[in-house]
Amino acid sequence: LFCLSGDIGLIGLAVMGQNLILNMADHGYNVVAYNRTTSKVDEFLDNEAKGKPIQGAHSIQELCAKLQKPRKVMMLVKAGKPVDDFIEQLLPHLEQGDLIIDGGNSHYADTNRRCQYLQEKGFLFVGTGVSGGEEGARYGPSLMPGGTPAAWPLIKNIFQDVAAKTEEGEPCCDWVGEGGSGHYVKMVHNGIEYGDMQILAEAYDIMKNVLKMNYDEMAQTFQNWNKTELDSFLVEITAKVLAFKDEDGKPLVEKIRDAAGQKGTGKWTAISALDLGIPVTLVSEAVFARCLSAVKDERVQASKILKGPEGVQFSGDKNAFLEDIRQALYAAKIVSYAQGFMELRAAGKEFHWNLNFGGIALMWRGGCIIRSAFLRDINNAFKSNPNLLNLLLDPFFTKAIHRALPHYRRVASQAQLLGVPVPALTSALSFYDGYRSARLPANLIQAQRDFFGAHTFELEDKPGTWIHANWTGHG
Ligand code: NAP
Repeated sequence: LFCLSGDIGLIGLAVMGQNLILNMADHGYNVVAYNRTTSKVDEFLDNEAKGKPIQGAHSIQELCAKLQKPRKVMMLVKAGKPVDDFIEQLLPHLEQGDLIIDGGNSHYADTNRRCQYLQEKGFLFVGTGVSGGEEGARYGPSLMPGGTPAAWPLIKNIFQDVAAKTEEGEPCCDWVGEGGSGHYVKMVHNGIEYGDMQILAEAYDIMKNVLKMNYDEMAQTFQNWNKTELDSFLVEITAKVLAFKDEDGKPLVEKIRDAAGQKGTGKWTAISALDLGIPVTLVSEAVFARCLSAVKDERVQASKILKGPEGVQFSGDKNAFLEDIRQALYAAKIVSYAQGFMELRAAGKEFHWNLNFGGIALMWRGGCIIRSAFLRDINNAFKSNPNLLNLLLDPFFTKAIHRALPHYRRVASQAQLLGVPVPALTSALSFYDGYRSARLPANLIQAQRDFFGAHTFELEDKPGTWIHANWTGHG
């Protein structure tokens, strides 16, 4: 009889859906599974789901009929129209107070819209970021749910039970905030992932082309760094990728065409940053670096024509410079996360979301691609000051970046002198120098704007009074 009332329904039996259902079932939840192509329901029930508290449904009506009230239905389907279509199919079979959850990679603006639409009709809606891919879904993803606040008590237990756990046993899942905030936070997570990957790629480029290190040396270096402040999933897999040999014994990575793909979430992060007027420079440079890598044929042509610096070589101490690179990575990461949280803060203000910043750091601690020890320190920073203006102003991070700065500057300048492209590392350093400047040269920009466009300016000692100057002396 217990079997007849499902705790949660799940639509979408592709990789993510199946694995999340199995994860939920392992934690004792009774799940009702449905998929548009219903043969997949039977296949799943006959194989992976066998012997587990999982029931099938062959129609939306059957799915809804098998659920305890208030019903909870989670979708893990292709983002976009399929999500809207399923919402419309579900509505006739749901009652006020029931909850629809979208776990796909939806754009936050769609989630804002859906949340409002469903709330107006008396339903609850959650858009949740799910990170960690197939493995995460099966054994513990990072979950970033946002939407109708009244939905959180209904899903808190199940979400926190199936989520990844930190070493201290805390779940990598907490309530993010209202509307599309869960999907927004997932988007910024992906943007930061682009940034983390790019700075690691730049470090690799310097090691290879400045320090002339071989692949085993580079792999060992990243492996060693993974025991330091840089301890993270991406550093760990970078070491493994560099160590990996093809059948002929040569490093496989060396043979891979250097044109990076992208699915768009990094771009969304940069677009939103521009819309909000927040300088998320490192992630944006990481997106552009992928774009530049993608024009491979054009670069090959240009490489035959355009010159770099000639006759200059690195002549310093190799081990000392490696430590410089390690510290540069750490410092750039601090800047990148500071920028990411600036973007989150601005989005929260813009969309009226009450964001849980410390919780966001904790959600990224485990289960997801950017998981790292570093996020524990970010969580601590927001725990000790929930109103922290900027991560760089937290005493721990101020001290950390001050310590790393001389190293960071050496790496950025050496790379520039030697002509190694390090757009993410250098843009983040310039951001830092701008952010710490009480006075920037924007006074000249204001003067220029007033000169050619009569845009007016304020004087330092008379803020709020807008003046136009007669720059040319003409009447
Ligand atoms: P997917 O390939 O993105 O989607 C396949 C699922 O969507 C199937 O259940 C499919 O049903 C359904 N679907 C596709 N088009 C549909 C339509 N027009 N109408 C109704 N249903 C439709 O599956 P996935 O990789 O498991 O990902 C699920 C969601 O999670 C996506 O939004 C994805 O972006 C997100 N996500 C994926 C990962 C990952 O690592 N794969 C990680 C995090 C988040 P049929 O079987 O009938 O075709």
